[in-house]
Amino acid sequence: MAFTRRDWLKTTGAGLAAAPAALADFQDYFQPASASAPAVTRATSCCGICSPACGLQATIQDGVVRFIEGLPGDAHGLGHLCGKGAASVNYLYDPDRLKYPMKRTNPKKGFHEDPGWVRISWQEALDEIAFRMKQTVDNYGREALLFVTLPSPDLWLRFMNAMGVVNRVDHRDECFLTDMIIQRYTTGGKTWCNDFENSKYILLFGWDIVAKAKIIYASGIVEARKRGAKVVHFSPNYTATSRFANEWIPVKPGSDLAIALAMIQVIISENIYNREFVDNYTNFGKYESEIRAHFAQYTPEWAETISGVKAADIRRIAREFASSGPAIAPAHKKTLCANYMNGTQLVHAISILNILAGTIDRPGGRYFPRTHSIPGVDAVYPPPAYPPKAGRRVDGRDKLPLVQEVDAGLFSTLADGMLNKYPGMIKFAFWNAYTILAFPNPKTMEEAMKTVDFTVVMDFIPTDTVSMADIVLPSTMYLEVNDAVARDYNAKYPQTVARAAISPPPFETRSIGWVAIELGKRLCPDYFKTPDGSWISPATLLDEKVRRAGLGENFADFRAKGIVERPAPFTPRTSFVSVSGAEGKCQIYVPQFPARGADPLPKWVPKRDEPNEHYPYYYMTFIPAIHKRNTTQNMAILNEIMPTNHAIINPAMAKKHGISEGQKVLVRSRAGQIELPAHLSETVPPDVVMVAHGFGHASRALSKAGGKGVRDGDLIANPSIDDFIKAGNYGGSSCIMDAVCSIEPL
Ligand code: SF4
Repeated sequence: MAFTRRDWLKTTGAGLAAAPAALADFQDYFQPASASAPAVTRATSCCGICSPACGLQATIQDGVVRFIEGLPGDAHGLGHLCGKGAASVNYLYDPDRLKYPMKRTNPKKGFHEDPGWVRISWQEALDEIAFRMKQTVDNYGREALLFVTLPSPDLWLRFMNAMGVVNRVDHRDECFLTDMIIQRYTTGGKTWCNDFENSKYILLFGWDIVAKAKIIYASGIVEARKRGAKVVHFSPNYTATSRFANEWIPVKPGSDLAIALAMIQVIISENIYNREFVDNYTNFGKYESEIRAHFAQYTPEWAETISGVKAADIRRIAREFASSGPAIAPAHKKTLCANYMNGTQLVHAISILNILAGTIDRPGGRYFPRTHSIPGVDAVYPPPAYPPKAGRRVDGRDKLPLVQEVDAGLFSTLADGMLNKYPGMIKFAFWNAYTILAFPNPKTMEEAMKTVDFTVVMDFIPTDTVSMADIVLPSTMYLEVNDAVARDYNAKYPQTVARAAISPPPFETRSIGWVAIELGKRLCPDYFKTPDGSWISPATLLDEKVRRAGLGENFADFRAKGIVERPAPFTPRTSFVSVSGAEGKCQIYVPQFPARGADPLPKWVPKRDEPNEHYPYYYMTFIPAIHKRNTTQNMAILNEIMPTNHAIINPAMAKKHGISEGQKVLVRSRAGQIELPAHLSETVPPDVVMVAHGFGHASRALSKAGGKGVRDGDLIANPSIDDFIKAGNYGGSSCIMDAVCSIEPL
């Protein structure tokens, strides 16, 4: 029986008001509380919207989660949840949630095509997926499989490894890949442990930490200020962090690298670096002449011509940073690593600033996380040897050895690879919880997805990516699953928190781990058996992980504790980078880089696009504080607070072009154009057009977010792997903001 569009809406829940069958489903699902027996219970777990996993407690009445709030005494959320975490009930009970596996009947694909879904059983879905995967590998080889994933739990990783998947990209690539690579070779640390509480000088390049960051970061910086720390914020636009900082210093978009290079030049030429740390724990002495000669060119006067920041200010900030310690310059994820083509060079420069400040794994600096060691499935049940990952990388990763070393992929070059470099190579794709809006140019990615013979998407709401699927699998979400989460944000000593299901999986939703086992049974059974020959069970596996990590006898025991901490005094490290040749020292000059096609010291590289006669303005995107990337726009409360996006421009630009508040404007770049209402704000410089990320979902099955706003990515040109190499972007920063534009009223 073929379903109509009306059926699709009913099945996904988007047509709730006009769909009695779906309404009946939700009446069962919500189970309204009975007035006569208001049984109220409490359950604790942790938030899964972003990584710090803030503790939460839920109020549950008659089996329905009514309210979610912060867990008192929790070391991460400090008893609070941010707006996104507090709105989690909207996520849990989103009436648009996918409920059953479905199969497409309309072969024509596109964001605006009706897929013609028909409901199928899990058995049918898994059998067909397994058949298509096997057929693809038999006919075209393993390189014809593409896996795009947001989280990669260990069971899913095992499945991909067992299938010898060559082409995999995941969230790391767009988020912290660049910093991960740089830290590996310069300090040996991880990317997100910042001891703000004990810093006396906090230098932020672009990061709007107060508005957008995790509670643990925002509170750390607030505490630091209370204790008298100085906060300096380089940023083109005025943000909540600018307001909070002692100094906001406006910069030209994409010019932070010039400032960081000039600061290094000042600190080195004036010999005001932390001598104790630099002499004992870095390779400065060994490469001193190369380092001094290289940075001599980057004077504050030179940086002023690029960044617009006065040379005297750069010199002053450099001296303060070096002398007012402990000082820290955090580099964080999308905020800068991934935004511009020169992001890799910038992250290297920032890492050098931290090394010169002498605060690597020292109080007030960037430190190595102290965490429990929780074994993965490969440690609990060692697998047979995995097949070799032989084949071409569609994203061109094989041309960036440093990216290859950490087994990551490249988001930004994926569409170019699928359409231009290796057209038709990918025959089968599996997307797990990743929306196409995350890509630099979603329209191009839509075209790339059309070239794939068979696509599976697993998600919990009907995103635009779902609308391109041949088979859709309905997923559980973080309030419906059990796990042990080792916190590595506030990790001066080990803390692991229990993520515990506070609501049962609704309808026919399943976890990706369960799917891995079921597909494994069909395609690579030897990888999914325990030593006694039985199939791996996710629950037994979790019990074993908990036991081996010393968190409890089993998960139930650990859950009863809620959190296991091992407080210990913070002992600073004396050994750092572990790559061969580093001799355990922090590396300012990275001698291993040239053999890997990278620069041993960071150099100036301009951002990809600069204003010109056709596109005279900088284009900037941002993630608003109230939303998590492109995933929360359909949450009822958050949608009500911020349902759409605007072109935010300075009143001076508005006056120049005759644009008034709320008037529709056309914003164009070399990659595309968007039409949206203008919002006038003094917080944005007169040469910048700023648009919030996360809006413009095409899927009308998203009853709240569908059709609202525009995609910021439509103005971002897709880079190719050759662009990356030419620009020295050896760490794969994603260029998800790298564009210039024009604007005109409509
Ligand atoms: S900072 Fe907010 S979204 Fe992130 S884990 Fe905490 S409550 Fe959740």
